[in-house]
Amino acid sequence: MPLLLKKGENMPEIRKDYLMDRYVIIASERSKRPVLFKKTKAAKKKSNYDKQCPFCKGNEAMLPGINKEYNVKKGKSSDIIRIVPNKYEAAMQKGNPELKNDNVFYTYSSSYGIHEVIIETLEHGVDFEELPLNQLKKIIEVYIESTKELIGKPNIKYVSLFKNQGKEAGASINHTHSQIIGYNIVPELVKKKNKKAKEFFEKNNRCAYCEIIEREKNSYRRVFENNSFISFCPYASRFQFEVLLIPKRHFASLIDMDKKEIKDLAEALKKILTTLEKMGPTPFNIMFFNTHNVEDNKDYFHFHIEIAPRISNFAGFEIETETIINTTTPEDAASFYRENL
Ligand SMILES: [Zn+2]
Ligand SMILES: [Zn+2]
Repeated sequence: MPLLLKKGENMPEIRKDYLMDRYVIIASERSKRPVLFKKTKAAKKKSNYDKQCPFCKGNEAMLPGINKEYNVKKGKSSDIIRIVPNKYEAAMQKGNPELKNDNVFYTYSSSYGIHEVIIETLEHGVDFEELPLNQLKKIIEVYIESTKELIGKPNIKYVSLFKNQGKEAGASINHTHSQIIGYNIVPELVKKKNKKAKEFFEKNNRCAYCEIIEREKNSYRRVFENNSFISFCPYASRFQFEVLLIPKRHFASLIDMDKKEIKDLAEALKKILTTLEKMGPTPFNIMFFNTHNVEDNKDYFHFHIEIAPRISNFAGFEIETETIINTTTPEDAASFYRENL
């Protein structure tokens, strides 16, 4: 049997679809995650401490460990950013990282890698965009350091960095945090993005994203711009109020950012997300798209960040056709951002 998992074993496993280049991670252990959400934003706001929350100051015994800590100045006091192992990991350094095929239809490997949580503050009930600018800056520096560390590890082929805010965006704990997963396959979407960017480059001798920036910076879809970053609601936005955030300078991975760019990215994230939240508490995902191979792909791949508000759910049509119906035009969404920034 092509099963790495035996009953009672909890190792996460990667499985490929019978025919399609589509992979899933089966991680049954993650179903045991506690879902810690207070019912309303008002209830959440009452306290900056929750006795059930493992990310809160004083509850360190509930964590599976602490990998690293960084101090941040917060006025006269200070705060701590922590990197901890994910207790319910989707990838672990165990088993066999090589994909194998048994009996034609069963392709699998261990979900081999490292899954960490970046706890962005010790304070409960503060949203990401509410954190002070210098703390957001430090968080981005931590993202860079963690990404660099994971890229170099054996058998790690891609490092995924993302943030979920709000239950509907997949967060199970409402204490602000990001996640980083380095694992043993390059996701198909990242491969596809690389391939398309490469094709454009070979045809036009120019990075597609650099060109897109030129086209969109004065369009009806523009959102916010500072010295280093530009943002707009993409022409074919899949999500209502989706924002694409791109550095003006061409580089392939967030690890290439300089100090000024880090500061400008913190500012852009804070501005855009604060504006989004003016609609009321809005769940969102932030996804950081790096190339998987910085050396080979640095000419044509351009680092970018997707902000996907999760206002509506996927229905049958979306799942069947991979075509998402978006009921807000990107032009209207962008005008909302510009008017409320
Ligand atoms: Zn907490
Ligand atoms: Zn570029």
